[in-house]
Amino acid sequence: MAARQVDTTLPKDVPTQLLIGGKWRAAHGNQTLAVSDPATEQVVAEVADGSVEDAQVALEAAVAAFAGFKKTSAYQRSRWLRSWFEAIRSHRDPLARLITIENGKPLTEALGEVDYAASFVEWFSEEAKRVYGRTIPATTTDRRLLAIRQPVGVVAAITPWNFPAAMITRKLAPALAAGCTVVLKPASLTPLTALYLAKLWQEAGGPDGTLNVITTSQASAVADAWMSDQRLRKVTFTGSTPIGQELIRKSAAQVQRLSLELGGQAPFVVFDDADLDLTIAAMLVSKFRNGGQSCVASNRMLVQRNILAAFTERATAATAALRIGHGLTPGVEIGPLIDRSGQQKVLAHIADALAKGAQVQTGGRALDGSGFFVQPTVLSGVQPGMRVMEEETFGPVVAISAFDTEEQGVALANASPFGLAAYAFTASAGRAWRVAEGLEYGIVGLNEGLPSTAQAPFGGWKLSGIGREGASEGLDAFLEEKYIAWGGIDG
Ligand code: NAP
Repeated sequence: MAARQVDTTLPKDVPTQLLIGGKWRAAHGNQTLAVSDPATEQVVAEVADGSVEDAQVALEAAVAAFAGFKKTSAYQRSRWLRSWFEAIRSHRDPLARLITIENGKPLTEALGEVDYAASFVEWFSEEAKRVYGRTIPATTTDRRLLAIRQPVGVVAAITPWNFPAAMITRKLAPALAAGCTVVLKPASLTPLTALYLAKLWQEAGGPDGTLNVITTSQASAVADAWMSDQRLRKVTFTGSTPIGQELIRKSAAQVQRLSLELGGQAPFVVFDDADLDLTIAAMLVSKFRNGGQSCVASNRMLVQRNILAAFTERATAATAALRIGHGLTPGVEIGPLIDRSGQQKVLAHIADALAKGAQVQTGGRALDGSGFFVQPTVLSGVQPGMRVMEEETFGPVVAISAFDTEEQGVALANASPFGLAAYAFTASAGRAWRVAEGLEYGIVGLNEGLPSTAQAPFGGWKLSGIGREGASEGLDAFLEEKYIAWGGIDG
C-alpha cells in the first residue's frame, strides 16, 4: 500500500457554516458536526450541524427569494450559471482536494469529478435559454390555446457522499436554470464540497436566498420540516432506495413532485466475441471508479462460459495491479471506502460468497491499520443467491459468474429488482442491438464502461428511481406546465 502519511490541510477558504438567505451562519445552538478523512479516520473539520429551526429559516429564505428569482430572464440565469461554471473550473484544484479528503477517492478521480460537476453547470447554463412553450390549434376561431412552462417552485435537494460535487450540480444547475430556488442538504459525510460550491455560486453573483445549504446530522427531521410545508414543491434526491421510498411516502401529504436517483446492481455482460482488451479496460473503470462506490458500478460480471477462464485471468491480473492508498498520494488508484459500515458491508458480501462456494482470485481482505480500506478483489464461481449477485456491494469487488447462451445472459442480467445501469460487450452489431433492447435498465453501456455525461438522460427503471437528470429531461424536472385558453379573439 502507498504511504498514508500525507498532508491533508484543507484549502483556506472553505466555509463551515450554514448558508441561509445569502448569509453564512452558525447552527442554532452552535452545534457542529465532525468531518473525517476516511483514509486516516482523523477529523479534518467541524461544520455547522443544522437543526430543524435552521431548516425552516432556510426554507423561508428560499420562498422569499423565489418571488423575485422566478421573474428573472432566462438569459440572466444563464449568465449566473456560466459565471458559476467558470468559478468551479478556476477552483478545480481546491475542490478536488476537498473531495479526496472527505470522500477518499484518488485525486485524479476527484479532478475528473470536478470537471463532470462543472459540465452540468455549463450544459444547463445553455439549456436555460431553451424553455419553450407551444401553441395548440383550437376548435373554434375565437380562441387561442397555449402551453407554457414555469419553474416548479422551491426545491429541496438531498444528495449522497459518493460524488460530493457532481450529484449537487446535476440537481442545482437545472433547478436554478428553470428559475427555482433551492434548499440543499448534502450528505453529512461530505459537507465541505457542498459548502465550497455554494460559496462559488455566491461569488458568481447568484442572488441571496436562491441557494441555501443546511449541513446536518438530522437528515430525516430536516426532510420532515421541509416536506410538511406546502410551499416546498419539489424534492430531488439521490441516495439509497429505502430512503427514496421513505420520501415517496412523505411527499404524499403535500403532493410534492419527486425526482429519485436511487441504488443500482449493474450487470456487466461479456459475450464470447467481445474485444477483451476493451472489455477489461471498461471493467476497470465501471467497477473501480470511486472504489466501486458508484450507483452505476458494475456489480455482477456475467461472462459467456467459453471465455470465462481468459476473462477471469485478465481481470485478476488487472485488479491485482491496482495501487491502493491515500487518495492524495500520487499514483494511487483505489482509496478507502467511505466509512466503517461501508467497509463491513463489502467484507460481508465477500464472506457470504465464499461461504456459498465462490473462490478468491485476488484480494478479499481489509487492510490493517487506520482507514476503511478493502483490497481490490476478484471472486470467481459466483452464483445467484449470493449477496454480490443481488444487493448493491458498493465496493471494489469483481464478482464473476458464467452463462451459456445470449438469452441466458440477458435473463440473468434482468434478474434484479434494480434497473439503473447495465453493460454489454460484443463485436456483433446485431447482438449489441438485441441485448441493448432486451436489458431492463435506464442506462446501457455497449462496449462502454463510462456512459454518464451531462447531455444524456441519466436515471433508473424499477427500484432505481423516478425521473431523469442531465439532458433536456433534467430541466423538464424543474418545470410545471401551464395551459392557457384565451377566448374572445374574434371581437
Ligand atoms: P443515503 O443513505 O440514502 O443518503 C443519501 C442522502 O439522504 C444523504 O444526504 C443522507 O443524509 C440523506 N438521508 C438519510 N436518511 C434520510 C431520511 N430519512 N430522510 C431524508 N434524507 C435522508 O445514501 P448514501 O449512502 O449517501 O448514498 C449511496 C446510495 O446512493 C447508493 O445506493 C447509490 O447507488 C445511490 N446513488 C444513486 C445515484 C443515481 O444517480 N441513481 C447516484 C449516486 C448514488 P446523511 O448523509 O446525513 O445520512
